[in-house]
Amino acid sequence: MTYDYDLIVIGAGSGGVRAARISAGYGAKVAVIEADRPGGTCVIRGCVPKKLLMYGAAFSADAEDARGFGWDVGVEGHNWSNMIAAKNSELDRLEVIYRSLLKTAGAELIGGFATVTGPNHVTVNGKDLNAERILIAVGGTPQLLDVPGMVEHAITSNEALDLETFPKEIVIFGSGYIALEFAGIFNGFGAKTHLVYRSSLPLRGFDKDIRSEVAIALEGRGVILHPEKTILAIADSCDEKQISLSDGMVITASQVMAATGRSPNTAGLGLAETGVAMGSRGEVIVDENSRTSMPSIYAVGDVTDRINLTPVAIAEGHAFADRIYGGLDRIADHNNVASAVFSQPPIASVGLNEAEAGERYAGITVYESRFRAMKNAISGRDEKSYMKLIVETVSDRVVGVHMMGPDSGEIMQGLAIAVKMGATKADFDATIGIHPTAAEEFVTMRSPRL
Ligand code: FAD
Repeated sequence: MTYDYDLIVIGAGSGGVRAARISAGYGAKVAVIEADRPGGTCVIRGCVPKKLLMYGAAFSADAEDARGFGWDVGVEGHNWSNMIAAKNSELDRLEVIYRSLLKTAGAELIGGFATVTGPNHVTVNGKDLNAERILIAVGGTPQLLDVPGMVEHAITSNEALDLETFPKEIVIFGSGYIALEFAGIFNGFGAKTHLVYRSSLPLRGFDKDIRSEVAIALEGRGVILHPEKTILAIADSCDEKQISLSDGMVITASQVMAATGRSPNTAGLGLAETGVAMGSRGEVIVDENSRTSMPSIYAVGDVTDRINLTPVAIAEGHAFADRIYGGLDRIADHNNVASAVFSQPPIASVGLNEAEAGERYAGITVYESRFRAMKNAISGRDEKSYMKLIVETVSDRVVGVHMMGPDSGEIMQGLAIAVKMGATKADFDATIGIHPTAAEEFVTMRSPRL
């Protein structure tokens, strides 16, 4: 049987583009179908635009800090539209790069919404295409809770990155990493920012001490926290939203943003009809080789709901191509994946949190440090940084590293290599610090927490 293509990739985001490029590089005839803009969530409405806005928002705190150092500065009159335009032109530039990466690799990009119509068949723009293999890389989409007024009146991260008017006051519903990052963005640009969440602390799934430290830090920066509450209804009148909370409080704000999780983008894709096994959240079920229950269909990235991060989607897409078209025995390793939350202050971690380590190992030893960063001594900012090392006692191996404080994402990348290599606490102790830095705390923590 001959096919139109060796491989059809659905979705030109992080995982799909990598898989397509590497597969085409091995000589496969590849088509990539994209319903929106090449680059996907990360480049067009995720990591990149949110980090650009985060950089912009951080200037207000920088200006406050500068005053302590004698600068007579303030940041006034921020022009939101100019910044959004600058952000958009950077995204346009990146989209061009993504298009040309595919072209240079020899993969054909087809615009349109794809539907899987059989184990080897895909329909796009009314046309049937076939391939020996299909790779599903359609990512995820914001998930809204079933609350009256939510669908009609709430924005999600998609719209928050492109608002025409900057809100004076915003209510963000949720406390995952996207909620915290946008709280930092809106608060930094001067909006009165509320964070409403059902748990007692933000960032469910993160280390408990990081969760309590970040709550203190967010409040210190002026974010108004509403823990253990939910939104019962949202009404809209005269361009203002009335947000009713479960404790009876009603907040009137110019915007409300739902950051209550993401779900796999499989609606209307035709996978279940084709017989591909799906999970209860609509995720595609795959094995460690990203194979679905249908031998000709594979899936990588957020649609599989494993670790929903860009570098993981890229690693899965790359491993798929290496194995299928490069003849290499490769899988994407999901152990010790480091990650960061670009909140203000930022957070980063690698490995297990304290609760997970306590469950997995017979004994753990915890080292921690809470300190005021040197810059804050003069800036006057009353904010602490926090660092934690979790060590398996018997082997002395460092199994978890957690940090909240300036540059934590940058610091954690190097530590992730050490953890991945199985570094022990003795290895950390034998490393001489770089002085004066915050990072040197990680190699100078001597006494375990009692
Ligand atoms: P995506 O990148 O989502 O790409 C899927 C593509 O498929 C999209 O372009 C979509 O248009 C297309 N598509 C969907 N259905 C179809 C169809 N039927 N036919 C054709 N095309 C289709 N991750 C990080 O690592 N670091 C971060 O800082 C970070 N920040 C984030 C911030 C936000 C606000 C969001 C929402 C996400 C963030 N992420 C971050 C997560 C990251 O964006 C995703 O993990 C990553 O993009 C997943 O890649 P993917 O290949 O699975 O899918």
